[in-house]
Order: sequence, then structure tokens, then C-alpha cells
Amino acid sequence: FKDYVSGFPKESDMYLKTNGTIKLKVPEGSNGLLVKNLYLSCDPYMRNRMKKSINSSTVSMVPGSPIVGFGVAKVADSGNPKFKKGDLVWGRTGWEEYSLITDVENLFKIENTDVPLSYYTGILGMPGLTAYSGFYEVCSPKKGEYVFISAASGAVGQLVGQFAKLLGCYVVGSAGSKEKVDLLKNKLKFDEAFNYKEEPDLDAALKRYFPEGIGIYFDNVGGKMLDAVLLNMRPHGRIAVCGMISQYNLDKQEGVHNLMHLLIKQVQIKGFVVSDYYHLFPKFLDLVLPHIAEGKIVYVEDIVEGLELGPAAFVGLFSGHNVGKQVVLVSKE
Ligand code: NDP
Repeated sequence: FKDYVSGFPKESDMYLKTNGTIKLKVPEGSNGLLVKNLYLSCDPYMRNRMKKSINSSTVSMVPGSPIVGFGVAKVADSGNPKFKKGDLVWGRTGWEEYSLITDVENLFKIENTDVPLSYYTGILGMPGLTAYSGFYEVCSPKKGEYVFISAASGAVGQLVGQFAKLLGCYVVGSAGSKEKVDLLKNKLKFDEAFNYKEEPDLDAALKRYFPEGIGIYFDNVGGKMLDAVLLNMRPHGRIAVCGMISQYNLDKQEGVHNLMHLLIKQVQIKGFVVSDYYHLFPKFLDLVLPHIAEGKIVYVEDIVEGLELGPAAFVGLFSGHNVGKQVVLVSKE
């Protein structure tokens, strides 16, 4: 990570550095782990860590140090009794070939390897738990409800939509290209999907797909879409504010004008952060693993090969370049 970012992140905000050979050993006396990174996750929240922290709840990345994010790794050496050499883990690691991890509290052992390992950056990792906790815990969904999801083909959205379909909801997603709209309708089995970039009037588009209004909105983008959704909520509807990617690169946030509709329609709106729901992880896996095995839930990934392609992959999140969960493959084993 080169230096704090303002505006849209650029590939040149990151650089690749070779350190020569390293000793594949945990330093004497450390209870940390040396891991070999296999898959790295590109997540929109990382953009917020690229600015200088203005509050204690956001930990900034350190200029000159490796990017920090979620990933899947293999333990190369362990000074910790909970992990041994060869264990597969997912959690917080660095954007580098090998990382020395001292804070093992943020690492989880991978027990189930019947699925692609990259899934632990997405459907079986942080974004998967976000979809699960945001939909079931925050939205309190019921069978037959009308559900709308923005950034619907992404890491979180595609799973929220499939959970909603499994529950018997009517599900519509918005995404930024024809390819993504086709994916939502044909592969992910959403009832409807539309390209928000081709809709001059978002309010009219939502009225077309939800003539009786939206019961649940799973918000991944904020901004203009949220404003249009507010006009279209049903009485007693719920909005889960998962993310606001349309605002992350702006110095000043766009105004939201239609808040009065929260009152008129008695709508609940709740922001949530996945880290509050890690205790649900076992319950989440019990639900999702059988569905994956039976093919009832599918997951779309966009995997680039090579650490050197990480910056472009990350930057691409903010123009919608990724089709599905954006992953960087560093090493297959
Ligand atoms: P995605 O895989 O969906 O990738 C980001 C997508 O956002 C892009 O592909 C693009 O899709 C869309 N996008 C980018 N810029 C804009 C814009 N200006 N307006 C509208 N859409 C845009 O990311 P994730 O699924 O990982 O994350 C989705 C959201 O969830 C993010 O806001 C993220 O910060 C949030 N999040 C929140 C968590 C929490 O704990 N609350 C945890 C994890 C994620 P398109 O082509 O459709 O525009």
C-alpha cells in the first residue's frame, strides 16, 4: 500500500515489492503463524481503510506495508498450539506470498475441503456471513415477501438473493451490465433483474418491478438507489444497510431526500456490521454447506491469477469490473 487514497483508488496506489528470500520459520518465542497465502479477497470495505483513520472504529492500512485483507492460506510454520503446519485457514492476512500472523484470533481453521478453497474468501467466508446475518437477522424475512437487492451479482448480493428465493420470496436484483443481469436471471434464478445504469429514472424502474412496493431492501450501494427505494417501500418494510459503495470514493456524501417515507410507511432501517455476527458462523455453515452440496445454492467467482494482478482486481470493484466474488489466486497449494 503506497499512501492514503482520495477519490477513486488507482492501481498506482499499490506497488509490488520483492524482498528476496525469507526464512520460512516463525521467530523464536512467537506464538504466531507463518502462512503461505493461497487466495486473497478483494472487498469494498478495504477502500475505507485506505484513508487516514478519523475514528477508532476504522483501522487504516499503513503506507509502505502490505495491504491487509481476508484470504485463504496454508500454515507453513506454527508457534501456536491451536494450529499445525499444513493446516488450511481463512481470515485476516497480508497481500504477500507469505505472511507472519501474530493475531491468530482472526484466523479460522478450514475443516471442510469438499468445496473450492476460494469459497472461504466469499460464500463460506466474511461475505457469506454478511449475506446470512444481514438477511435473516436484520431483515426478519417471511415467505412471499418482495425483496430487492442492489449490487446483486456481487459477493454478498448473489447469496442474499438465493436465500430469499429458498424462502419463497419474490426477488429482484439490480446490477451494472447486461452480463450481470443475465447471470442474475438465468444462473442465480432471481425472478427479475435490471441494469440500473440504463435506467434514467430509478423510481420508475422500481415501480415497474414492484407495483405493490418493496417489502425488504438489502442495500449494498446507498446514494440514489436508496433514495428511489424509499419512495417504493411497502408499509412496515425493512431496509438492511449492508454497504454504500456508491459513496466510498466521494469526499462529501450525496444527500438522501426521501427519508420522510420511513415515517409515512413505518419502515425500519438498520445498518449492520458482520463482525457482530461471527458467533453465528457454525449455524450459517450448517445451512449453507448442504445447499452447496445439493446444488441448491451456486456461487459465481471472478478469479485473477497472480499477486501482481491484485491492484487492478481491487480497483475494478468500484467500476463494476468484477462479475461475482473478486478473488486473487496467489498459489494453488
Ligand atoms: P461486490 O462483489 O458486489 O463488488 C462491488 C460491486 O458494487 C461492483 O461489482 C459494482 O457492481 C457495484 N458498484 C460499484 N460502484 C458502484 C456505484 N457507484 N453504484 C452502484 N453500484 C456500484 O462487493 P461485495 O458483495 O463484497 O460488497 C457489497 C456491499 O456490501 C459493499 O457496499 C460492501 O462494502 C458491503 N459489505 C458490508 C459488510 C458489512 O459488514 N456491513 C461486509 C461485507 C460487505 P455493478 O456492476 O452491479 O455496479
